[in-house]
Amino acid sequence: MDCLFCKIVAGEIPAAIVKKTKTFTVFNDITPQAPTHILIIPNQHFENMAEVADADPALAGEIFKAAGEIAAEIGLDSYRMNINTGAGAGQSVFHAHLHLLGGRSFAWPPG
Ligand code: AMP
Ligand code: ZN
Repeated sequence: MDCLFCKIVAGEIPAAIVKKTKTFTVFNDITPQAPTHILIIPNQHFENMAEVADADPALAGEIFKAAGEIAAEIGLDSYRMNINTGAGAGQSVFHAHLHLLGGRSFAWPPG
């Protein structure tokens, strides 16, 4: 399967890896939308986070927990977790990922 994020997990494409465990990988987004813009992805291929939650709820929990822990390590007291699901919502890479964004203010609702 030709998947960009599977290749990052396999080390076939370089990325600024922040953390890697047996089950998930954390790396900096190549086109940051905020001073902190980190992606947290399962090592196993799933198309989106809903599929992760359905197939492996514990893994979905690990990914959310990692996001909170990393935000705390960086010292972010507020941040946004973003999960684009489907092309119409802006998903461009169809390997599940959670965006952790911080270091600037965010409008809500998004414009
Ligand atoms: P989404 O649009 O929600 O599917 O998010 C995909 C994200 O992957 C975007 O924010 C891209 O900037 C990011 N991205 C694409 N290619 C790479 C790469 N090689 N390394 C790191 N991040 C990437
Ligand atoms: Zn993949």
